[in-house]
Amino acid sequence: MANTPSSASPAVNRRVELFAIGNELLVGQVLDTNSHWIIQQITGLGAQVRRALMLRDEYDEIEQALKSALARRPRLIITTGGLGPTDDDLTFRAVARAFGLEQREDAVALEMVRQRYAYLATIRPNFSADLNEARRKMALFPVGGVPLANPSGAAPGLALELSSDPAAPVTLVCLPGVPSEMKDIFTTSLQPVLAHAIGAGGYVEHTIVLDRGDESRIADLLQRVQGAHPAVYVKSRGQKLEDGLRLTVVLSCGGDDLPALLAEVTAAEAEAARGLADLGYSVLRIVSN
Ligand code: ATP
Repeated sequence: MANTPSSASPAVNRRVELFAIGNELLVGQVLDTNSHWIIQQITGLGAQVRRALMLRDEYDEIEQALKSALARRPRLIITTGGLGPTDDDLTFRAVARAFGLEQREDAVALEMVRQRYAYLATIRPNFSADLNEARRKMALFPVGGVPLANPSGAAPGLALELSSDPAAPVTLVCLPGVPSEMKDIFTTSLQPVLAHAIGAGGYVEHTIVLDRGDESRIADLLQRVQGAHPAVYVKSRGQKLEDGLRLTVVLSCGGDDLPALLAEVTAAEAEAARGLADLGYSVLRIVSN
């Protein structure tokens, strides 16, 4: 079914936009697994990713993408990639240019970088802990940016408030491209930022697995269920599961009130299951997230 993913609390701004930065993504050398993982995390928090784009390592591309994202007023803008010491790592510079901010060496970020290289010098023979210019570049923060500790790499992440309107805050978060570092920051130092921006939320997903499938035969039913439960995202899908090719109906909903989400999805699921039985389908199982 074609409809929009749903949220049970549309009044709260939990919209998120995502930008994966890196030429390697756009020449097909590297698959953008960062976006996929972050989308799963953000969805699990009850927020909604409205847009996910891959961008080249080019100032203009990044600047334009960030400016137009800000104009759409999502609650969070997240970038990955381009935080390292090399010349093609230009995310902070692009952020500074996009929002007219100076770049200054951030003492806290520099200390994080220093500690990382000091640690590496203790475990790698002939490794210099010197903070050369390339390494210092990772602490050259757009003014106002707050460093996010990176437990497994040198480049700190960044959190920056972009909106001066307290009624419509927009937070920019920049994370490294290395997937393990991105995940480590996301699950540690970024958590307070996420809690503040998105709050405590959740996501409920129930999947009805059918023994056989013809999506066209259930389209009307699913449209009725969708109409009766607009907060629930109702989607049929042919899926290859461990026991073979199946037709599945996925009912999902994100928001801040978990018991209400569960009640809504369960009600939609019961209605869908009844309708499917009426159409002669047998439900093999129902899987909950
Ligand atoms: P570095 O310190 O390595 O320069 P960085 O933050 O600048 O880190 P990139 O240089 O953009 O990140 O990428 C580092 C590594 O992470 C590369 O191997 C790259 O292929 C991988 N990578 C970057 N972006 C993604 C992504 N979106 N999905 C999966 N892997 C990615």
